[in-house]
Order: sequence, then C-alpha cells, then structure tokens
Amino acid sequence: MAASGAPVTRLKAAVDEWAAWIRRAEGEALAEGLIQTREAGIDPLEAAFATGVRRFDKSGEYRADGALSLTAWLRWKCKLSGGAAMERVEIARQLEKLPQTEAALASGDVGFQHVAILARTAEHVGAAAVRKDEASLLQSARTLDPGQFVTVAKNFEHRVDAASALAEANRAYERRYFHISEPKDGLVRVDGALDAEGGAILRSALQPFMRPITDDRRSYGQRGADALVELGRRGSGNRRDGAGPRPQLIIRASLDTLAGTTGAPAGELGGGGTVPAETVQRHACDSAISRMTGAAELEHELNRAVRTLSASTRRALEARDTHCVFPGCSRPLNWCDGHHLVWWTRGGQTALPNLALLCRPHHRMVHEEGWMIERTKDRHWKASAPVRQVPANARSA
Ligand SMILES: [Zn+2]
Ligand SMILES: [Zn+2]
Repeated sequence: MAASGAPVTRLKAAVDEWAAWIRRAEGEALAEGLIQTREAGIDPLEAAFATGVRRFDKSGEYRADGALSLTAWLRWKCKLSGGAAMERVEIARQLEKLPQTEAALASGDVGFQHVAILARTAEHVGAAAVRKDEASLLQSARTLDPGQFVTVAKNFEHRVDAASALAEANRAYERRYFHISEPKDGLVRVDGALDAEGGAILRSALQPFMRPITDDRRSYGQRGADALVELGRRGSGNRRDGAGPRPQLIIRASLDTLAGTTGAPAGELGGGGTVPAETVQRHACDSAISRMTGAAELEHELNRAVRTLSASTRRALEARDTHCVFPGCSRPLNWCDGHHLVWWTRGGQTALPNLALLCRPHHRMVHEEGWMIERTKDRHWKASAPVRQVPANARSA
C-alpha cells in the first residue's frame, strides 16, 4: 500500500475534482462530461485494472491472502460479483494477446463492454484468429453500441469457427430453464433463461402486447408482465367471442365472496394461492376464461345465472363499443372482457344495456381499484376515480 500512496492520493484528488465539476455542469457540458467520465476515466482505469490483474495472476500473490483463485480474490477484496470478477480475469488474460484492443481501451477509443465482448470471442476462437481481424473488429466497436457489436462478434466467430459457434449454441440450449414459484405474499416469482432462438420467439410474441396505452402509468416491467399473462391467456385456446368458454382458471369461491359480504373468505385458485373477493367478482363478470366452483348452493346459483356472454350478445356488444370504452383507451376487441355495469351478483342483466367492453387492465381498475364506469344519457362513457381509495401499495386486510 505504501508504494501506491502518492499516486492514489493524486487519483483521489482528481476524482474528487471531477465529481465536483459534474455536479455543477449543465446542458452540453454535462453531456460531454458524461462521455468523458467513461472515455477519460472509467475505461482507461479498467485497462489499467486489466494490466494489474494480469500481473497479479502471473505472480500468484492472491494466494498470500488465502484466496483459492484470482476470481475469488477479486470478489473478496475488490467487491466484485462472481460474473464481474470472471469477466475481468478473462479480459486481463486475453488483452495481453490483443495489443490493438488494449491500446484502444487505454485511450478510451472503445468501451469496456466492447472489450469484454472481444475477450470472449478470443477465448472462443483463439486470440490469433481475432488478431488477424483485430483492426476491422475494433472499427465496428467504435461505431456500434455493445448490443449491436455482439452480433458482429458472433458473426465473426461463426466465420472463423462454425463448429465452436454451434457448440456454444448447444451449450446455451442445454442451460435453458423456466421456473414458476408457488405464490408467496400474493406474488408468483418467474425466472428463467432461454437460448437465443427461444428468446427471440418470446420477445416477438410479447411485442404486440407490450405497447403502452394512452396515459399508461405502467412501468416497462409491468407492461412486460401483462404481456406475458396475455400471451398465456391467448395461448390456451380461449375463444375471443366468449362463447363456449374453455376455462383456464378455476376459482373456488363461496356465494358470500361473490356477493362481497363482509367477512367472506378469499377465492381459492385451482393451482394454489388465493385472490381477493374483488378479483373473484371480476372473473365472474365475464367468465370466458374462468370457471367458478364452490358449495352446492353456489353451483346452483351459477348455473341459474346467465353471466357468460352468448356469442350473439358478444357480437352485438363488439359492434356497439368496437374497443375498450374507458375514456382515452382504444385497446382492441381481443383485449376486452364484457363488464356488467350493474354486477350480475347484484341483479344486473347479461344484456346489451348493462354491458360494456373493458380491456383487462381497465376491467381490473373497475373491480379491484374501485373506479366507476357509466354510460351517460348522450351515450358517452364516463369514468370516475375511486371514492374509496384502494391503496395500491398496501396489503388488503
Ligand atoms: Zn366487470
Ligand atoms: Zn382500456
């Protein structure tokens, strides 16, 4: 530590001075400041870090601290994640064999992520092959963002060594998985990894359902989650006209829950987990995708009540409303449920005057968040915000 004392003091002073300047910079100066933070700061420092890591690797001195590997030492002492530590070791080892790349990183000419991609390519096809095309690869790195540059690097790998590119694709395919957890605190965790082809198929299938609606308050992540569920809903053969439902969701609920009686139990999902009464009522509203089961009295009640839209009623409803009727929303028919303005549990009829097309996010806002939707005398639709605030961030009692 003593040996690095003076340079470290100067480095810290320079970083402090830079940080103070960035805090004050505005407009164009701030934009240029951000660029220079990486070009003159982070990237050359990563290059210096790589040089140091390489020398440390060769000396084996990390063992003096009791670490079993250089990667373990980097995680421990340099506070890196396992992936970040492995990436830096790989870069350090490959950069030695790629002098042009090392120089481009040190001068801030290409970014750290570009170099990480080149290092991985060198590990796959050998540094010698990369060296032959190093100048043109770096030229691409200068003009493309890292995401685009991966494609260039992968194409290069395929040209140089189709067999190992195939082997890599097969390894990636072997690592695919998808997992859906049991519900916990009302949330089901979903995680997984797909090979490139599977990922592309899923991405393009989700895309049409991801588009924001007018005044969309949902985050990108929330839109993604909605799109995935919508995909599942369509995938299981649900017919758009709402007639002849094929239930995908089985909810067991008591009549009290359906009627919204105080003290009623929650609805139980067929696959495990519970949903609040409001959700049970929303599904009961247009049961094209759900089947409700319960006590004998409930079965009787459900059979008696015609709450599922017949094909002809659905067609008439579609002809009248043409899309979600929530003011400002234009989600098309296949996003929409038939909502009972006076809920059928309260005696509302499954007939055109008592129905409205609502897209699923808006249908949910009406049932679970307390919004009101009504048809005015001049045949317009009016939405009113909930009188009783349903807190979005608090657990319901
Ligand atoms: Zn409804
Ligand atoms: Zn809508």
